[in-house]
Amino acid sequence: MSNRIKAEKKRFYRKRVELFRLIDKIKLWPSRTGLLHGIRTMERMGDTARITTHCNKTFLVNNSRNSRAARWLRNKWFAGACPECGVPEWKLAKYSATQFERHHGSDTLRGGSSE
Ligand SMILES: [Zn+2]
Repeated sequence: MSNRIKAEKKRFYRKRVELFRLIDKIKLWPSRTGLLHGIRTMERMGDTARITTHCNKTFLVNNSRNSRAARWLRNKWFAGACPECGVPEWKLAKYSATQFERHHGSDTLRGGSSE
């Protein structure tokens, strides 16, 4: 009986991508101003990682699925790319085309290239 409850509860949790896996895949970091920085290195230390961007900024991030950065990355919110990082166009294009694991109705795939 308690199993039943557990199973039903589970359905409400959507599969979310870990922030670190996300970063590891796309190698981009959204700053608070909406600029995407290119990630040069990511040193994992448990649930924290030290990230160094190509423009030599270093900071610590937590592996949170719900952090601002995780949300911005998943939603692809960014205003542009950091000029110092020199993020190449193809990388941004690839990022824009990335589909995140959101098996939540197929209409997320509708997008296409036009607005
Ligand atoms: Zn940068």
